[in-house]
Amino acid sequence: MAGNDDGNDLVKQHCKSSGTWEEQGISRRDFLKFCTAMSAVLALPVTLVPRIAEALEDDKRPSVIWLEFQSCTGDTEALLRAANPTVADIVLDVLSVDYAETIMAAAGFQAEAARHATMKARSGTYIAVVEGAIPTGANGAYCCIGGRSALDITREVCGGAMATITVGTCASYGGIPAAAPNPTGAVGVKDAVPGATVINLPGCPVNTDNLVATVVHLLTFGSPPATDGKGRPLFAYGKRIHDNCERRPHFDAGQYVEQWGDQAHRAGHCLYKMGCKGPETFHNCPSQRYNEKTAWPVSAGHGCAGCSEPHFWDSMTPLYKRLPNVPGFGIEATADQIGLGIAAATAAAFGIHGVVSALRKGNDSDDEKEG
Ligand code: SF4
Repeated sequence: MAGNDDGNDLVKQHCKSSGTWEEQGISRRDFLKFCTAMSAVLALPVTLVPRIAEALEDDKRPSVIWLEFQSCTGDTEALLRAANPTVADIVLDVLSVDYAETIMAAAGFQAEAARHATMKARSGTYIAVVEGAIPTGANGAYCCIGGRSALDITREVCGGAMATITVGTCASYGGIPAAAPNPTGAVGVKDAVPGATVINLPGCPVNTDNLVATVVHLLTFGSPPATDGKGRPLFAYGKRIHDNCERRPHFDAGQYVEQWGDQAHRAGHCLYKMGCKGPETFHNCPSQRYNEKTAWPVSAGHGCAGCSEPHFWDSMTPLYKRLPNVPGFGIEATADQIGLGIAAATAAAFGIHGVVSALRKGNDSDDEKEG
């Protein structure tokens, strides 16, 4: 409990100062609660709460250019539905979103002028946020904005940014637009602009807490958070879903849902046999959750679809078939450590869907034998 006391002292100490947040109608208490929540998401010690507060109180708001290409707009929706802080807090107080086609008032030439003005005035210091995949086929002709291809715009905007944050799996790795046979040649930002500093926040949609925490890290430390080999921040993607899942005790006890709606399903047992991909997926869904932290797919009774992993639509489908057995990793393993094991188990699933289907069928046979 000593840590909590220290934390309370620090919070009280910081409460003595005043700042622009109070002037804008946000109480000091709520502001510090937000800073403390961010330190928790980032897995930082509570002693850094004052430093986070200081960074967020800096008058110089970072400019953000939010690009949207091949996407369902789910990540913009997630931002607009964000509860903590509200979208108004983010947009008006922490960030200066100077270009976001879906939510900005300007359109057409005015909008493009706003983007150019921001890039010129804030070169090397603005944050680029990308939503959606970038099509590279036919010289980028599958997605054009203002007469320019998404590929051109991505290279220009991300190439001049302090850092690029990809929101959602499509911007991170190509996502569903890149699923086989990938007719538009869709790729993620890192493949489109190999030299850019990219922080991947995959998931369908992005968890806004993770987005805000990444921005807070950039503002507080001036650098991106530590990432895994797939460019994902370790604070959010360092642990397997399976290891933090509330249904894990049922997995360990061999208590599985066998049919949708059966007694085990109603009792909240493990969804492994119904196709849950939690054992191969890294994300903090079980702790951060969605909808004001009230729910995530597994708590709602549906297995994890593996949507925060690269090429999940090819490697994790069929969604309702159980995973092949993936030996050789335990609770403490990281995504990088088990990468080879998963690659072998899914048998070059990235693009070779038939092989994976065969594996799934093999496991179905095993299930039948077990049954
Ligand atoms: S529901 Fe999925 S993530 Fe949860 S314990 Fe079962 S297999 Fe693992």
